[in-house]
Amino acid sequence: MTAPAIGIDLGTTFSCAAVFRNGKVEVIPNAEGNRLTPSYVAFTDTERLVGDAAKAQATVNPENTIFDAKRLIGRRFDDPVTKADMKLWPFTVINENDKPMIQAQFMGDRKTFYPEEISAMVLSALKSSAEAYLGKPVCNVVMTVPAYFNDSQRQATKDAGTIAGLNVQRIINEPTAGALVYGLDNVMKEERNVLIFDLGGGTFDVTILTIEESIFEVRATAGDTHLGGEDFDTRLVEHCASEFARKYGLDLCSDNKALRRLRTACERAKRTLSSATEATVVLDALYRGEDLHMVITRLCFEELNQDLFQKTQIILEQVLGSALMSKDDIADVVLIGGSTRIPCVQQMVKAFFGKEPNKSVNPDEAVAHGAAIQAAVLNGDSSDIITNLVLVDVTPFSLGIRVKGGIMSVIIPRNTHIPTQNTKNFVTSWDNQTEILFEVFEGERKMTADNQKLGEFLLSGIPPLPVRQATVDVTFEINTDGILHISAVQTITNSRNQITITSNKGRLSEEEISRLVLEAEAMKQDDEARRKVAKARNELERLCRIGHRAGTGHVKDKCQSMLAWLANDQDAKTSACKITSKRLELQLLLDTVNLKI
Ligand code: AMP
Repeated sequence: MTAPAIGIDLGTTFSCAAVFRNGKVEVIPNAEGNRLTPSYVAFTDTERLVGDAAKAQATVNPENTIFDAKRLIGRRFDDPVTKADMKLWPFTVINENDKPMIQAQFMGDRKTFYPEEISAMVLSALKSSAEAYLGKPVCNVVMTVPAYFNDSQRQATKDAGTIAGLNVQRIINEPTAGALVYGLDNVMKEERNVLIFDLGGGTFDVTILTIEESIFEVRATAGDTHLGGEDFDTRLVEHCASEFARKYGLDLCSDNKALRRLRTACERAKRTLSSATEATVVLDALYRGEDLHMVITRLCFEELNQDLFQKTQIILEQVLGSALMSKDDIADVVLIGGSTRIPCVQQMVKAFFGKEPNKSVNPDEAVAHGAAIQAAVLNGDSSDIITNLVLVDVTPFSLGIRVKGGIMSVIIPRNTHIPTQNTKNFVTSWDNQTEILFEVFEGERKMTADNQKLGEFLLSGIPPLPVRQATVDVTFEINTDGILHISAVQTITNSRNQITITSNKGRLSEEEISRLVLEAEAMKQDDEARRKVAKARNELERLCRIGHRAGTGHVKDKCQSMLAWLANDQDAKTSACKITSKRLELQLLLDTVNLKI
């Protein structure tokens, strides 16, 4: 028997898993008992750490502590966003066929990881926590992505789930997941327009939905996949670093450990400033023995981030425009995402709409709650509150093909309800043309050069005919995950050609995914073996110390020699079995001399 399907919010800074059972959502605590798991993975000389344990050692091991994988996932190495982020990360990102790969030192070797693999490690930890919590294997999952994630980012997120050994039943948009929670908490008999304002650690999304009883219809979505709490932290870091440079003439940014300590302190100060008007950043001997001591006022924090906060207003205007609505058409504005706790953000939203935003849903957990609800719906849960629940989402970008002159010929316009499909007819451009190269793009600009290229495909086998005589039907289909599939039919002979996008460098191949699945499983088993060894060592050491303290003569000697074995023998570092047998041997000895422990 497997466990019910779970919902996972794979966040930039934190992730959260939840399950819907017995008619309600339960957030699944992680191994440390926390409801949110930092999206961090760390590599050391002896082990791999995920979540709280990884984040806790970030300041002492900054080069090998990986975070922000969500900012890299599905992006190319030459993406300007990747380039800008890399300057701020203490870990190294390298270029592998235009795909960014993360480098880390692990158990004495230099290793490289795809962003998908790092995300898979976080997902795998959430999967294990869920299995421990539910007492059954967990396989099926609904995962969330920012509404403004593009095709490659969605696909890469799904691939991360596969690598973690999960069956990703559906990808849903984060604000839509938040809306489900709000909608189920506030059942509406009459149709109402609700705007979800989702400002998290790394991304900003706004979605307008029309909700009526259990029908959730997304009307429009807009956002910025690179705007969130981490950017606000960066502004504070830059401010403190420049103040430090002014005072001591020292550039601390060249020191990864100092930078990591400063970032952690700034994030803490930012949180404090959501409830207090002042926060202090105190770091002793931060760089070259000099201390940093700064008082940051809320006003200073707001000024440092004013332009970023303003960006949210522009996106609000955009989404209203796309939905053909005015501010007055919005009945409720719902805040989700940890960064909506910032008072200035709340005030801006209030000033924009002229009314108090709704803070009734938990900003950190709402998305995972929504994913768990959707998972229950997909798996036929019969609870009253979710039967008849219908969710209709939209695609965030226009999708099309490059035609003569580099113009974007849109096949599916943005904000179209999904799933959807549309077919367009294309003709040959010269006499006797027997193949056509189609280049696929997403984006809103007229010229494809200004949009994002998803890939290309070649349709061959067209019968030689005069120009414009041979025609091809190209069909774009977007599934419920928001992921694009393309097919083409050459209409003369009607030969269908299933298209695989060939040059999508942002995507892992099927073979690569299969290899990574095996690698992830092997790593998990290695982790498990190391955990068993560590546990067995602890137990034996504990028994030795007790025996050494309480015993006499040969008992004391035996304990002493076993402690020496633990410290020096290779088996004592790798074989849980041998350690356990030593423990049983010692236990027997202690029992025979009647040493009570
Ligand atoms: P999320 O992606 O929704 O988990 O949001 C995480 C982001 O929210 C991180 O950047 C946190 O620093 C930020 N955050 C959490 N609590 C607060 C707070 N009280 N004030 C300001 N930002 C916060």
